[in-house]
Amino acid sequence: MYEKLISESIKAKKLSHSPYSKFRVGAALLTKDNKIFHGANVECSSYSLTICAERVAAVKAITEKNKKFKAVAIATDSNDFAFPCGACRQFLSEFSENMDVILVKSKTKYQIYKLQNLFPHKFKLK
Ligand SMILES: [Zn+2]
Repeated sequence: MYEKLISESIKAKKLSHSPYSKFRVGAALLTKDNKIFHGANVECSSYSLTICAERVAAVKAITEKNKKFKAVAIATDSNDFAFPCGACRQFLSEFSENMDVILVKSKTKYQIYKLQNLFPHKFKLK
């Protein structure tokens, strides 16, 4: 179902700017209109300014007027499945809390979660 998206997330790791951690993350975000936006983590020497791959992909999509998402695939080089951080869970949930989150080790090794299950209680202004 998500073969293309998974493959694109693996390719997106090449876009990573991670000179400090060497921890590459690639993301491929599928919009409601079936467009794919790529993202990768971008690190900064002031570490807290680092931006995650998922949010890079989401910001690219949102600023191109694509605000509803079906799924995001997240690929790393880790031997473990890497879950999105809390900030990314909050960020994505504001746009599509029912989206799928796909954790990718390889084209054949992946896990699919509902964002709502990973982040059931998002912060809301009201
Ligand atoms: Zn994150």
